Amino acid sequence: SNPFHERPTRIEIDLDAFAHNHAAIRSRVGVPVMGIVKANGYGHGLVQMAQALERQGVEQIGVAFVEEGIALRKAGIRRPILVLGGIFGPQVSQYLDHDLEITVSSLDKLRQVEAAAEARGKRAVVHLKIDTGMERIGVHSYSSAAFIQAAAASTWCFIKGVYSHLACADDPASPMTLQQLERFHDACAQFERIGAPMPIRHLANSGGVLHFPETWLDMVRPGIILYGVLPDPASRPTIELKPVLSLKSQVVYFKVIPEGATVSYGATWRADHQTRIVTVPIGYGDGWPRALSSTGRVLIRGEQYPIVGRVCMDQFMVDIGAGSAWNEDEVVLIGRQGNELLTAEQVAARIGTIPYELLVGLNERIPRHYA
Ligand code: PLP
Repeated sequence: SNPFHERPTRIEIDLDAFAHNHAAIRSRVGVPVMGIVKANGYGHGLVQMAQALERQGVEQIGVAFVEEGIALRKAGIRRPILVLGGIFGPQVSQYLDHDLEITVSSLDKLRQVEAAAEARGKRAVVHLKIDTGMERIGVHSYSSAAFIQAAAASTWCFIKGVYSHLACADDPASPMTLQQLERFHDACAQFERIGAPMPIRHLANSGGVLHFPETWLDMVRPGIILYGVLPDPASRPTIELKPVLSLKSQVVYFKVIPEGATVSYGATWRADHQTRIVTVPIGYGDGWPRALSSTGRVLIRGEQYPIVGRVCMDQFMVDIGAGSAWNEDEVVLIGRQGNELLTAEQVAARIGTIPYELLVGLNERIPRHYA
């Protein structure tokens, strides 16, 4: 029970659109899917998005942190869950307790997992992480042979997967992706050399799914495209995607201000003629970025209007000029109203960020409504 549930500011999640995106991805790639739901399901709701994926027959779920995996298990999610982030030794027993698959990203960490698994008397299910150019976590592909050999020889680790992460796949023109793929294949060849079974190889994030069929391999790991959002302005919509999230509020105040009046903190915006201003009850305290001050736009009665003055913690103001609006009129911040559409990509681009950051920033003060 969220105390904000009845708030007129709300996020609407279109579960049909989510199911459509998942199905469209599946039919395009033709290999199993690991649906990524980290960071509160990219702002859409961790448990609800995992439940939707599970209903739709996803093969695997991916999260960033062990805490997210535990939350999913406590909510009754049964599908295999891989924790993508690096492990901390003292937490390994939690993965084992909750049947969470572990990313093993170094020889040291392999030893930590083995020790915990032996102490617990339970075999760990692991995915080996190979670094092919991201330089984040993982063993460098060019020195991974001994690591793979040690993991393959381990009695306490079952190697279910081997994977790497693409740095530039959202740009179809980047040569980096195929280089990374080649390095990944080089690393995986070690399994054949030592006569070990080839685990599930997975590499493709959303960019890989959209632009690089060579990277689909045995499983794909889409995040942002499941939510109907492109990873980058350079990305091509090679799959028909439907936006899942809408952010809406309502007009809470209407007034007319005279020429010369200034709006909001710092008096940074001044009316150069008499105009009509409405106030909208959502601000940076909800994760609606302050960078949208005098920069963002919203939809009211099917028209786009500018945000004027600084976005406050809980409210911001909109100049509707000679337009009309009444208290309680719907205000769309992300989504469709009439024939107009404001996408998460467009809002993010206005303030020089990516839709990922915008979406995951929308916090728990905004109730989510699922339909
Ligand atoms: N795989 C890994 C290891 C990730 O860290 C992420 C997210 O950053 C994804 C897959 C999904 O990425 P995207 O949302 O770009 O599809």
